[in-house]
Amino acid sequence: MSTLEIRDLQVSVKLPEGELKPILHGVDLTVKSGETHAIMGPNGSGKSTLAYSVAGHPKYEITGGSVTLDGEDVLEMSVDERARAGLFLAMQYPVEVPGVSVANFLRTAKTAIDGEAPKLRTWGGELRGAMERLHMDPAFAQRNVNEGFSGGEKKRHEIVQLELLKPKMAILDETDSGLDVDALRVVSEGVNRVRDTGDTGLLLITHYTRILRYIKPDFVHVFVAGRIVEQGGPELADTLEESGYERYAAGAGPAR
Ligand code: ADP
Ligand code: MG
Ligand code: MG
Repeated sequence: MSTLEIRDLQVSVKLPEGELKPILHGVDLTVKSGETHAIMGPNGSGKSTLAYSVAGHPKYEITGGSVTLDGEDVLEMSVDERARAGLFLAMQYPVEVPGVSVANFLRTAKTAIDGEAPKLRTWGGELRGAMERLHMDPAFAQRNVNEGFSGGEKKRHEIVQLELLKPKMAILDETDSGLDVDALRVVSEGVNRVRDTGDTGLLLITHYTRILRYIKPDFVHVFVAGRIVEQGGPELADTLEESGYERYAAGAGPAR
C-alpha cells in the first residue's frame, strides 16, 4: 500500500531569460495505490506542470509545498531516484530516443528500477505479451524509441512501459489525446489491467471526458488556472461533459 501526497504545491516555470512564471498556486492531492484519480482541466491550466514537477523535470522550480511518496521527500530525489522509488510518468508528448531500441530501452528501464536485470528466461515472453496486449507489432521491439511512431503508437508504447515497470504511482498526462476510438480502447484496457492489480495508484490527466467512459475514476478533480477548484466522484465528469470549464474560469482564474 503506497501513498503519494502533494501538499500546497507551488511551482513556477523557468523562462529562458531566467525569470520565474508562477503556474501552480497551491495544489493538494492524495493518491493511494489502487485508486484512480482524474485531473481534468482546460489547456494551459498547469496539468503538465503538475506531472513534470512530480517527475522532476528541471524546467520547473518548486517554490513551495511538498510531495512525498510513503513519507519520503520526492522533491529531494533525482529523476532516477523518483523512478526507482516507484513513480512513473507517461508524457503528453513522448520523446524520441535515437539509437535506442524499444527492447533495449524497456530492459534497461526494468533493470534500473528493479535493481537487477530481468530473468532472460521470462523477460522475452513478458515483453512480447505486453506488446501484444497493446496491439503493437513485435517488429517495434527493434525500432528506435518513438522514432517515426504515430501519436497512437507512442501512447501505446507508454502503456507497455506502465505494464512492464509496475510502478507504485503512475501519472498519465493526456494519454488519451489524439487517439482514435480503437486505440483509446486498447490503451484504456491496458490502464485498467494495471488498475485491477490494485498495486498502482493512477493519476489520469485529461482535457476530455471521453477516456473516462473506459476508465472509471474513483475521484475527479477539476483543475483551473493552477489549482484544484472542485472535487467529486465520477459523476463530476458527466457534469463537465455538459457544462465544460467555462463556469469555473469566470470565478477561479483568468479567462482564456
Ligand atoms: P496544461 O498541461 O494544463 O495544458 P501546462 O502545464 O503545459 O498546461 O502549462 C501551464 C502554463 O505554463 C501555460 O500558461 C503555459 O503557457 C505556461 N508555460 C509552460 N512552459 C512555458 C515556458 N517555457 N514559457 C512560458 N510559459 C510556459
Ligand atoms: Mg496542454
Ligand atoms: Mg498538458
